[in-house]
Amino acid sequence: MKGVLLLGMCLGGVGYCQTATPLPLISVNSQHSISQRFSDQELRAFAALAPVDTHTHAYQNAPALFAMLKRLNLHIVDITLIDDQEKNPEWMDLAKERRDTWGVVSGSKGSAFFCTTFDPFRVNDPNFSRDAISEINKDFDRGAVALKIWKNIGEEVKGVNGQYLLPDDPIFAPIYRDIAEHGKTLIAHVADPTTVFEAPNPAAPDYSSYMKNPGLYMYRKHDAPSKADILRARDHVMEQNPTLRVIGAHLGSMEADFGELGEHFDRYPNLAVDLAARMDYLVIQPKDFLLPFITKYQDRLIYGTDLEFFQGDDEHERVERWESAYALDWRFLATTGWLVYRGHIVQGLGLPTPILRKLYHDNAVKWLPGIEQRN
Ligand SMILES: [Zn+2]
Repeated sequence: MKGVLLLGMCLGGVGYCQTATPLPLISVNSQHSISQRFSDQELRAFAALAPVDTHTHAYQNAPALFAMLKRLNLHIVDITLIDDQEKNPEWMDLAKERRDTWGVVSGSKGSAFFCTTFDPFRVNDPNFSRDAISEINKDFDRGAVALKIWKNIGEEVKGVNGQYLLPDDPIFAPIYRDIAEHGKTLIAHVADPTTVFEAPNPAAPDYSSYMKNPGLYMYRKHDAPSKADILRARDHVMEQNPTLRVIGAHLGSMEADFGELGEHFDRYPNLAVDLAARMDYLVIQPKDFLLPFITKYQDRLIYGTDLEFFQGDDEHERVERWESAYALDWRFLATTGWLVYRGHIVQGLGLPTPILRKLYHDNAVKWLPGIEQRN
């Protein structure tokens, strides 16, 4: 069947999320529906898995969002973070962000789960760890399933002596212990894509997005830790806390080296990764490499998107965008049809249902206990 596809979606990667930039109309051959939203048949197959998107940032108590989650039989993990670069009011004030995120979680009536955080820019406060843990534990008591640390640890946050703090700095150790003691999960988005640490490379899938924010272009920060330093410190946290489950956001920031990612899975049994905002890197892998890789590590890969829903966003436009993103990812992972994924014409992987069930559901509930067991 000859079809026409108009695409435009968020690249993801918090702080770099583009507004939808429509690609040119591209004709592709496909045996599947070309609509951006789910067809009825696709929706049935997707919803049957009781899918979980383990990586979202939703801060608007939007009935249209909740209705979509119910219609798709979808659960989300709603992640908080502090970002002083983006100048987004939601990410500048943790008290407000907590309120808004809990508002989404309760408004969703069971569809959304809370992921807490702490403000790393308070790290030089005298009682930093104690105060952070006190707030974190209130969230855990209310049902938060995880805590996220963000890439500003390693790339921005500095200690009293002006040195960059790495994820394994002893100041954070009591927090990691607290997460493990509560049986919760650490979601670690540390380090950026390799693109950000290397000389400008227009061929990189995320080049244009990351280059928009020169403040976080690590290649130009000569006194900052390298990506390898930051990931080594993250790995050190896993070694020091063997009972702590860690989900490395965005393929664990190893999107440019699947060999390294596989070695990490082999070395760290407490590590899984989410696919959020790195599908661009999956779709450019040769299928005869990617299928065996996913098959081998089917218990360590967890679906996520990095979709955003801010206060003030048009809820119907946002919901349309979210559903289109889910449908596009689904077509790539679950079908063998041809599709255009952010400019790449690719054939879907056609993963078997047992693996899809792990990526979309089983691994989420296993690595993030507290997400309601369903199916
Ligand atoms: Zn994110």
